[in-house]
Amino acid sequence: MILFLTKTMLIDGSKIRINTYNPRLANAEEHYVRGSIYDASGNQLAYTKVEADGTKTRVYPFGEAYAHITGYSLRSKTCLELVLNEALLSSDRFTDQLEYLFGGEDIRGNNAILTIDGGLQQKAYEMLKDVHGAIVISEPSTGKILALVSTPSYDPNTVSEDWEDLTSRDDSPLYSRALQGQYPPGSTFKIITSLAAYRDGSLRNYEYDCQGEVEIGATTLPCYHSTAHGQQDIYDAFAISCNTYFATLGLKIGGDDLRKTAESLHLNDRIDFVLPQSMSHVTVSDADNEQMIAETAIGQGQNQITPFSMNMIASAIGNGGMLYRPYIVDRIENTEGKTVEKYLPSMYDNAVMKAEEAEYLEGLMDGVIAYGTAYMLNDLPCDVYGKTGTAQIAEGDDTEPHSWFTGYTKVGGKTGIAITVMIENGAESYPALPIVHDLLNYYYTR
Ligand SMILES: [Zn+2]
Repeated sequence: MILFLTKTMLIDGSKIRINTYNPRLANAEEHYVRGSIYDASGNQLAYTKVEADGTKTRVYPFGEAYAHITGYSLRSKTCLELVLNEALLSSDRFTDQLEYLFGGEDIRGNNAILTIDGGLQQKAYEMLKDVHGAIVISEPSTGKILALVSTPSYDPNTVSEDWEDLTSRDDSPLYSRALQGQYPPGSTFKIITSLAAYRDGSLRNYEYDCQGEVEIGATTLPCYHSTAHGQQDIYDAFAISCNTYFATLGLKIGGDDLRKTAESLHLNDRIDFVLPQSMSHVTVSDADNEQMIAETAIGQGQNQITPFSMNMIASAIGNGGMLYRPYIVDRIENTEGKTVEKYLPSMYDNAVMKAEEAEYLEGLMDGVIAYGTAYMLNDLPCDVYGKTGTAQIAEGDDTEPHSWFTGYTKVGGKTGIAITVMIENGAESYPALPIVHDLLNYYYTR
């Protein structure tokens, strides 16, 4: 008894411990009312309801909108319900423990407050709920995650009843597409190709006369709708997303340098974050044939990038080359609202790229909105810098390509938020761009 009442250290250092199974906590679940999880404005995302007969039920008031953040708490736990298990089943209030000892009352566990912007999360979920896709929104200047949405989703309130269906469906609603979905990045990869060209130095002023398509090895790579873009420098080619320009530029850069540039942006790297995720892969090398290198340079080929990784790249550019560690738990509070543990922004990599490289990429990403493929974002009450992408799934596959946008905002020269949207098979039917427009409009005008 005394053993489990002893105040436990919730968190050591900057990392939250992940406990898959802990007999002490399994025991604690009987004597504790599991703490609640809140968004940044104090909306309850998960709480435990206690019936008159003592039965405890975990309730998720927003259902599917937060499923891939909170996870669920049953006999097995996932996502933050798992990561925060120890925090939610601990109390640092001695009086709670006395009440338990002498009054037999259950101890109320600590609460967790997230960095999530509830309005933005809800809005993002609403825009995505009828398609398959992911949205990641963060604050580059701190690393705070403001929204993290994956669809299709599931209702954590009824996950037990729905288990059979959820685990047998082809569209895998239990898995987070934002964190675990590996997708060809399409033209968003041109950010990486452009950075590699800049680092090469001699390729910064590369020009190419686009004829609408180019033959490389055994394949023909077309521009969108085979439009012949004519003479292009990197600013025009980036803004209008000219494939022949970047495919031929990629061949001059070479496979090794494309991969090394990708790796400098933390692709092929396990990201240190509290929720489970897949690693993004860029495997191209000088040993690959020309077709593979050219396809990689325009985001096809073997590239597999998660929306979460892509958003970290946009964050690093928006923050002048410095990347803050992404985090989603702001603090743990006791039941009186006193902070027990606070998480602060911390640097993940202070030199993802040089400031001048970030400035160069910002110049390219500015053109995309000023006169390029994301022109529709130029009426917003913020400056937007970004890149669109249309990613073919595989050669000869006639399903609709995925639709991407990644970028960030500035207001009065100050970096605002980074936003990445990826819609599976949405290129024509449900493109990412109008979603980005509506979310940014909501964020800046609400
Ligand atoms: Zn072109």
